[in-house]
Formats: sequence, structure tokens, C-alpha cells
Amino acid sequence: MNPSLRVVMYHYVRDLPNTGFPRIKGMLTSEFRRQLAHLRASYEMATLESALDYLQGVYTPRRDLCLLTFDDGLKDHYTDVTPLLLDHDIQGMFFLITSCLHDGQMVPVHMNHFLMATLDFPEYRQAFLDGLTNMSPDSKPLMEVDEALAQRTYRWDAPDVAAFKYLFNFVLDDHLRDSVLKNLFTEKLGDVRTFGRELYLNAAEARKMQAAGMILGGHSHRHKPLSSLSDDELETDLKTCHQILLESLYPQPFWPFCYPYGKQDSFTAETSRQLQQLGFCCSFSTEIGLNMTGGHLFELRRLDCKDVSM
Ligand SMILES: [Zn+2]
Repeated sequence: MNPSLRVVMYHYVRDLPNTGFPRIKGMLTSEFRRQLAHLRASYEMATLESALDYLQGVYTPRRDLCLLTFDDGLKDHYTDVTPLLLDHDIQGMFFLITSCLHDGQMVPVHMNHFLMATLDFPEYRQAFLDGLTNMSPDSKPLMEVDEALAQRTYRWDAPDVAAFKYLFNFVLDDHLRDSVLKNLFTEKLGDVRTFGRELYLNAAEARKMQAAGMILGGHSHRHKPLSSLSDDELETDLKTCHQILLESLYPQPFWPFCYPYGKQDSFTAETSRQLQQLGFCCSFSTEIGLNMTGGHLFELRRLDCKDVSM
């Protein structure tokens, strides 16, 4: 049997019951610790370099490889994840949204997570749709969502929640959605930037992670579905992301990237081309699966941490 490379993806990893937002969907730090012990016993834990060597056919491991990736540049990754990875002698790969690192912005998808963890879903949806109607009296709240696609995109959510998230992330006009959201967020949870500074890694923390042997990578500047941008917008976003990584962090021999959202329809051949041109070494999707030698370096597949046994 040829060995394979499995890449596991994580988002929030925190001691949820002891945070202000126990309903955030994430992995408990205690579960993460158990999962690390399991993975370490079952696989050869890869570094970015050994994974790239394997993919390019210059390294054949004796066992299947396993690489750990963490999306969105969350503060959890500094406080909870990095210490445990160091205890287990494992390298993690952390993908930063550079607008969050650089100027304390919050991206809409995260405002949405925290509002959903604060309000009951029907209350949130109603408050959001009311805000939408107030701001744009002519707009009909668009509930015309492809429900199968929504469910495929948000596999862990109930159908009505998946449909709302899909409407929110893929259907609504960005400016309108973001204004409604920001008003609602400020009303319920306070100042957005103050919240953002607590939620995301800052550059000093990211550099400490690098100094401890972790790899940092790009997750775009604004966390938009990259296939929805024009070529110029795409170029601006990716260049800005790349430039901020180089200016804010320590040098690295390789810079990986990870597509926001990450399903096959959220990036294009042009996205990969531009990433390659900027010098990124590879890019991770959220399409489910294992990777084999010779696989496309800019369409790497991953497994959700909930798909991996403990
Ligand atoms: Zn993300």
C-alpha cells in the first residue's frame, strides 16, 4: 500500500464551557489533547517540508503522514493549540486572515458565529432580516438558497441554519449584509475592533509561534470566496495578504495558503495561478479526502477534525 497524506483542519479549539460563548462550534481543548495522542500513535506527523517532499515524490514515509492545519488566525491557536503541539512535538500550520492581523477587523463570517452563539437562531434570523428590511426597504430577504448546496457547504448544521449561513456568505450583497451585521453586532456584543483584538492573533503572537517551530500561512486578506472576485480584486487581495505576511512575520522558506470557505467552487484555476506567481508553495481546500504523491499542490484535500477518531 502506498502511504497517503491526511491533512486535518481545525478552527476554534478552546475550553468552551469556560468561555463567554459556550455555544461556539469548536473542539474542546481536552478533546484536542486526546486527538493529538491518537494521531501521534497512528501516523507519522508531517511537517510542511516532509509533506511537500512526499507530494513531489522525493520522500516515501513508512507510515501514512498526517499534517495539522488551523484556519482563521484565532487567538486560541496561540493560547490553547501551540502549547499542546509543542508538548507532542508536532508542527502546526496556521492560516491568517491578514485584515484581521493587520488592523483588527472582524470578518463577517466570525461576527455571524458569535451572534449565533449569543442569540437563539430564530431571534437572530429575525433581527437580521428586520435590519435588512430597515436598511433597504425594497429588498426582499432572499431565501432562495440552493438547500442541497447549502447543506454540502455546512455539513454540521441543521438545514435552516445551513441555508441562512449560505444566504449570508454567498448570496447577499456584501455591503448591505456587512452594514446590517455590524449594527447588530455592535448592539448585542459591543465594539467590533475591541472584540476582534481578543479574537485574533496579533503579529507578535504569530512571530512567537514561528519561533517555536510553527508555520504560518495566508488565508487571504478579507476572507471572501475568491471565485467571486474579479481578476483585479483577486490580485489586490492576494498581493495584500502576501505583503502583510512578509512584512509582519519572520521569513519562512515556504509559505502555504488556504482558500477561504475552500470548496471546489470557492476558488478557480486563476486563483491557483496567482498564488503560484506570488510564491506560495501550495494551497489547501476544504474538499474532503486524502492526498497522494503527484497530487495537485494547489488543490490539497483535508479532513475535518470531527471526521478523525479520537
Ligand atoms: Zn476561514
